[in-house]
Amino acid sequence: MKLHCDLCGNKSIFYNRTYEGVKFCKKCFKKNIKEKVRRNISKHSMLSHDDRVAVGVSGGKDSLALLSILHKLSRKHPRSELIAVTIDEGIKNYREEAIKLAKEFCKELGVEQFVFSFKELFGKTLDELVLEKKDELSECSYCGILRRRVLDEAGKRVKANKIVTAHNLDDEIQTFLLNVFHGGIERIARLNVQIPNGQNAFIRKIKPLSEVYEKEVALYAYVSELKFQTIPCPYAANCLRNDIRSMLNQLEEKHPGAKYSCYRSKERLTDVLKKHSGNLEIKNCRICKSPSSSDICEVCRTLCRVST
Ligand code: SF4
Ligand code: ZN
Repeated sequence: MKLHCDLCGNKSIFYNRTYEGVKFCKKCFKKNIKEKVRRNISKHSMLSHDDRVAVGVSGGKDSLALLSILHKLSRKHPRSELIAVTIDEGIKNYREEAIKLAKEFCKELGVEQFVFSFKELFGKTLDELVLEKKDELSECSYCGILRRRVLDEAGKRVKANKIVTAHNLDDEIQTFLLNVFHGGIERIARLNVQIPNGQNAFIRKIKPLSEVYEKEVALYAYVSELKFQTIPCPYAANCLRNDIRSMLNQLEEKHPGAKYSCYRSKERLTDVLKKHSGNLEIKNCRICKSPSSSDICEVCRTLCRVST
């Protein structure tokens, strides 16, 4: 068995990427992740030289690793600007620490940070909303729907033309499978749809980490000595996503590359479905006037469920 880095020959092995059969030393691993992100950005023309980019920074490993990589890459593009936006859902004994860590890292990099909260936008924290909910929808479903809206709003308020989120490959296939389990085929067709800014619809969202395994993002954060939040959200254990995550981790353990194959299938299926589903019609929500694919947007439907 070879016992050296496949890239530089260094004898100190840090990581074995089993699905590709490649071993890395620390330095080459870090370089490889940055290069993977750079290639993903370039392949999908995610960023241009004079973008004003709002990066969603929660204080977790993914978003801090992403900010660190984008900050390094942006040095080559002096006309582009990075702004960090942090969302405070209002989860007691959890979000406070993450916001503090996000704040400290942004300060260290000299990136301006803005915090937007559920309380400010919806009048209630996530903790308050889930206490009042009378349906079966999980806390994470509430959180996800409302967080997407806050992120859109944050992007508008900081006048960004792109919003970057730290979704990694695991997040992407979990969302895909969640839609499969919930029968959300139309949602799968919309997973990769980019709606042009010109339609006053949504600011373009990009995910530069979408081809990097969650485990590798965590390792990158670790070798970069980033201080990120390690305690899990108190609601995480209740959601189906968590079970899908465990199932995928078990599969990957037994069959290296299973996650990557699932990701490729998702990409192909999304493209095929898109061709057959025609153009997405954007209307304005009758209640909040936000762009929506239906008469009442998902956010207003969710908030109505709590208030009635
Ligand atoms: Fe929100 Fe669920 Fe994530 Fe907690 S685990 S922050 S409730 S999506
Ligand atoms: Zn609405």
